[in-house]
Amino acid sequence: MRAALLETPGHVVMTEAPMPTIQGADEVLIQVRTVGVCGSEVHAFHGTHPYRIAPVVLGHEVAGDVVAIGEAVSDYAVGDRVVVDPQWTCGECTYCRTGYINHCQNKKVLGTPAWPGGFGEYILAQENAVFHLPESLSYKQGSLLEPLTVDVHVVKQANLTAGESVAILGTGSIGGLLSGVCRVVGAEPIITADVRQHCLDAARERLGATHDFLLPDEGFVDKVKEVTGGEGVDVTFVTADDVALVNRAVEMTKPRGRIVLVALLRDAPLQLMAYDIIGKELHIIGSTMTHHADMQKAIELAASGQVDVEAIATHVLPIEEAQRGMELVDTKDDGAIKVTLSFS
Ligand SMILES: [Zn+2]
Ligand SMILES: [Zn+2]
Repeated sequence: MRAALLETPGHVVMTEAPMPTIQGADEVLIQVRTVGVCGSEVHAFHGTHPYRIAPVVLGHEVAGDVVAIGEAVSDYAVGDRVVVDPQWTCGECTYCRTGYINHCQNKKVLGTPAWPGGFGEYILAQENAVFHLPESLSYKQGSLLEPLTVDVHVVKQANLTAGESVAILGTGSIGGLLSGVCRVVGAEPIITADVRQHCLDAARERLGATHDFLLPDEGFVDKVKEVTGGEGVDVTFVTADDVALVNRAVEMTKPRGRIVLVALLRDAPLQLMAYDIIGKELHIIGSTMTHHADMQKAIELAASGQVDVEAIATHVLPIEEAQRGMELVDTKDDGAIKVTLSFS
């Protein structure tokens, strides 16, 4: 089968890869139609991702068709349109048994050497990580469900409630769709900031952001406080990969507020004065991947039109142009936010 392989950091090549075959009774074989290029994969592209390490077939934002099923699979049939939760979990550890599958101690993640991803034409998945793609959603929209799922989880981690004020620092794919989820929850105002105006425009025009700030902006923190009556926001989400934004988050979040770290922030260690956190009793929260209920919720939000997932979808390229797709997501040139690769 065709596969776009990240051979070494910075270099994607088309190869012929062995086709996966069903090994377990609960497995589903999926022919990939579309696959999104994720910001986390740009880390792999730069050689800075903790476990997406070249040589690897990346791709975890997959939509496609079921082409074969194991003998115990009951909810899917050949021909079904599906999307996938990119976590292959054991079902037996403490975390799996209590619903925190993102912390499964034996987990494999799609798009890693342990579980080759959707930049290859076929992938395997376990039945419990497969979800029906509603007829009303295209494959491309299906590929946007995984990042939306991440945001459903992020908002849950924040315990966000209606009427709370939020700031979203970074409006790429994750930050943009996050504006949409915050709006559905009823947050107000939804303040966004980014270094690229086209990313801010998508969040404001189509996803419910109420204010936007083009960075760098010297007076940014003061302006956010002004928007919130001098107080600061209830919740700040750090969705862009710039550790300095965490310091801004500490400054602009009000006492007893929450800061959710979403971007991987692996470029440098954080440098914070502890008292800035202690004195305001801030809660600093991490968020990683998702639960199955988050995927169900994301499908519902997209299919009902409550979140316009297409707002971030700027480019569709053939799989053969995976290298360019990764470069576009990295640089955000040519108005790029989310690039989707397609097999035709
Ligand atoms: Zn992703
Ligand atoms: Zn487990």
